[in-house]
Amino acid sequence: MQSTMQDVPLTVTRILAHGSTVHANAHVTTWTGEGAPRRRSFAEVGARATRLAHALRALGVREGDPVGTLMWNNADHVEAYLTVPSMGAVLHTLNLRLPPEQLAWIVRHAADRVVIVNGSLLPLLAPLLPHLDCVEHVVVSGPGDLSALEGCRPQVHAYDELIAGSPAESYDWPELDERQAAALCYTSGTTGDPKGVVYSHRSIYLHAMEVNAAASFGLKPGETCLPVVPMFHVNAWGLPHAAFMAGTSLLMPDRFLQPAPLAEMIESERPTVTAGVPTIWQGLLAELDAKPRDVSSLRTVVSGGSACPPSLMKAFEERHGLTLVQAWGMTETSPLGTVAHPPPGLGAEEAWPYRITQGRMPVSVEARLIGPGGETLPWDGRSAGELEVRGPWIAGAYHGGADGEPQRPEDKFSEDGWLRTGDVGTITADGFLTLTDRAKDVIKSGGEWISSVELENHLMAHPQVAEAAVVAVPDEKWGERPLAAVVLKDGSSVGYEGLRAFLSERIARWQLPERWALVPAVPKTSVGKFDKKVLRRQYADGELVVTTLG
Ligand code: AMP
Repeated sequence: MQSTMQDVPLTVTRILAHGSTVHANAHVTTWTGEGAPRRRSFAEVGARATRLAHALRALGVREGDPVGTLMWNNADHVEAYLTVPSMGAVLHTLNLRLPPEQLAWIVRHAADRVVIVNGSLLPLLAPLLPHLDCVEHVVVSGPGDLSALEGCRPQVHAYDELIAGSPAESYDWPELDERQAAALCYTSGTTGDPKGVVYSHRSIYLHAMEVNAAASFGLKPGETCLPVVPMFHVNAWGLPHAAFMAGTSLLMPDRFLQPAPLAEMIESERPTVTAGVPTIWQGLLAELDAKPRDVSSLRTVVSGGSACPPSLMKAFEERHGLTLVQAWGMTETSPLGTVAHPPPGLGAEEAWPYRITQGRMPVSVEARLIGPGGETLPWDGRSAGELEVRGPWIAGAYHGGADGEPQRPEDKFSEDGWLRTGDVGTITADGFLTLTDRAKDVIKSGGEWISSVELENHLMAHPQVAEAAVVAVPDEKWGERPLAAVVLKDGSSVGYEGLRAFLSERIARWQLPERWALVPAVPKTSVGKFDKKVLRRQYADGELVVTTLG
């Protein structure tokens, strides 16, 4: 029997139209560092989106054309987020923390025709332009030193002038296929070339609905969300789209991502929900400890992108009354994969073991664990294997470049169409995922696996430890053994023996690291995660001062 339901495409155009009319009075507020924050209502964003679409069309942007953005989290970026896909073009968010060669590679691979750039980032873009033949127009948003672009080949435009000079009357938004490309984001590329993930209108729409579900982040009208996660990292976890759906105001930090301004904007703008990687929350915790602020407006602080140390969650809760909620995801998963809300009705103590997991998948994301022999493992909370997922907002391939076919490397996609996440963990019968490692970070010691994340979490629970990363290093006898790289808090006096004794009360003896190094900071990737590849290289190159305990 055929269904009798209408088949209406799920598109970003719909999200823009809905947010800018039904939620006309919600705001995008951009932090300016000094002086008053800039406020723009959703209605104004909608009106400016119309003008931006006219302007981009006048620059020659057509359906399917990639438009790059090299921007911080701000209102102009939100406009680009909603306008470019609604025109049928493809929003390509560029990671401004990538090394310049990688950034240039990505722009060329995507074949961006236009790049919208924040003026403050011109020093990054300008030297690359001679190597970016595909780029025809550069649109500069906000103040910046335009002399950096003198003599460059692409035509240069000021964002606000383009908007002001474009027609305000309605734009003829095209009827789009919900499966067509809406946005493009490259993975941070720890090995090999970066891989492009192309989101569809449908995937963005469904994902944003899930972000708004109570079992996820539950954005609501009248609330304010502060996405600290950059808009160049997996669509800022879908929060701008979700906010326009729900009528949740956005507080955008622009380039003020340091702990002090973050604390200041939370106190003065009173957001209710925020989201970012654990490194950001470590920094904010130290800031709040040193200079307490009123952060009581926050009902939820989402921590994702890498494992959130339970000690960090505890410290936020006990010292500042803030609830950290852990979530797991990847560029390839849009990124919402799991959220760690405990089952209802539990007291704080009973809920804790659930809260420190990575959480549960929503109905649209299916998960399975694959053992070393390729067998599917049970959800028993013990059997550890590689996590594979599938669902309507999970990538099934990577972008093949301007003229290339999509790529499905075997190590990333199973034959039957699941995404191989590269994450290793267990799942309980009621669906709680606990990740013990990235497959490539697991420490394989004498045939047993040691979880680097578990060691790190215990070490970071030590009151004198600021940060700790554990990596596998070659060992003659055991194959691999853990090396602990530790950042001590200022004025700490604990020695390696003390740290080892602290660990020995919490883990089995054979898992205790023999090799220890003090480091000034754990190396981080472009999105603020521990960069273990760099640590392993530093060890191999003899750059770390390593002490071996017997
Ligand atoms: P990216 O695509 O750069 O966002 O990286 C995705 C990877 O980050 C995942 O495959 C995980 O290894 C890691 N990750 C993300 N969230 C978490 C989390 N809550 N706990 C542990 N690892 C995480």
